[in-house]
Amino acid sequence: MKILVINCGSSSLKFQLIDSASEDVLAKGLCERIGIDGSQIVYTPFGGKSVSHDKITTVTPMKDHTVAVQLVIDALTDPGHGVIESLKEIDAVGHRVVHGGEEFSTSVIIDESVKEAIRKCSDLAPLHNPANLIGIDACERLMPGVPQVAVFDTAFHQTMPEKAYLYGLPYEYYEKYRVRRYGFHGTSHSFVSARCAELMGRDISELKIIVAHLGNGASLSAVMNGKCVDTSMGLTPLEGVIMGTRSGDIDPAIMQYIAAKENLSMDEVMDVLNKKSGVLGLSGGFSSDFRDLEAGYNKGEANCIRAIETYCLRVAKYIGAYAAAMNGVDAICFTAGVGENGPMIRAKICEYLGFMGVKLDDIVNAVRGDEAEISAVDSKVKVFNLPTNEELAIARETVNLC
Ligand code: ADP
Repeated sequence: MKILVINCGSSSLKFQLIDSASEDVLAKGLCERIGIDGSQIVYTPFGGKSVSHDKITTVTPMKDHTVAVQLVIDALTDPGHGVIESLKEIDAVGHRVVHGGEEFSTSVIIDESVKEAIRKCSDLAPLHNPANLIGIDACERLMPGVPQVAVFDTAFHQTMPEKAYLYGLPYEYYEKYRVRRYGFHGTSHSFVSARCAELMGRDISELKIIVAHLGNGASLSAVMNGKCVDTSMGLTPLEGVIMGTRSGDIDPAIMQYIAAKENLSMDEVMDVLNKKSGVLGLSGGFSSDFRDLEAGYNKGEANCIRAIETYCLRVAKYIGAYAAAMNGVDAICFTAGVGENGPMIRAKICEYLGFMGVKLDDIVNAVRGDEAEISAVDSKVKVFNLPTNEELAIARETVNLC
């Protein structure tokens, strides 16, 4: 089957066409600045007649997501650089949907009732769910009759017990407004924990795994017997570890304090916490990108040292907490941009975990981007560098339902 995987943002649309039999990516790309001047589609073919795997960038107006989906279809079926003869070769579409609330604990085939439920969850993800729905509508319009599947970022975490998902708030807020921990990056946590069990040659139902998804956004999860029992992001993706630009956990009283001192509205404080904090904020605005921070760290720049040290301690504390939540841990997996490519970050985090018997192999830990067991042979806990592949996970889920 050929599966089109779509990840729609408010002004962007990322896509991949995946052959589910070989799990090869036939083409991938990104539509940027949808509904804004200067929109463009960046497309890379890997299959079909095209011998070049070069990026093709086309600047063209995109007034809405329907135009963007049409441009994706045009690129995929283009006589020169297309990878399929016609639209009919697309067997199903898998959509990343950010928030499934308590409604969805698995992926589902999209129908009107599913769309309505996604719409109802928009309150919880006002920037993402409406964009995901627009993408779904655009695909339905242009590919009538092709099954569409929703794969939720929150679904994997729905197995968390009440004691892990409740906040210490008046219970009526949960009853009335469903204020609770949901967690995100679920597709990645599920994919990586399953792959970890495979690599260990063990059944996931007998393992305790901690996944550290460290990208620009970052979250950790505790996966016990194949089920998520805790995760660091909460009602929204703002909670948890320090991220690229998000603060992660702070004392909630800071919000009122800063609002008063800086004369900011609640919306403005939220903007600071989401966009100007994290390692960007800690480094005094230097960078949210760990490549820059690492380079600065190696030159001894205080801004970068401060940001990296604070970041690593926070991640290590979460790993310690999740080992306690599961009463043990068999494996720790590092994934996503920073996790997969950051030997120094992984080493610094694992230094705190020696008490649990975590020991890295410094030579293997030098790996960037490739799958590897990076713990020393005498480490009590196995540690892996494990590239995530959310698009492939979405394609697999889509095939399972079609
Ligand atoms: P997201 O999907 O949340 O945008 P990614 O998982 O793509 O994030 O991670 C992006 C981050 O990964 C970048 O901001 C950068 O800090 C980090 N990163 C990417 N490549 C490297 C590298 N070679 N070395 C260190 N960090 C890297």
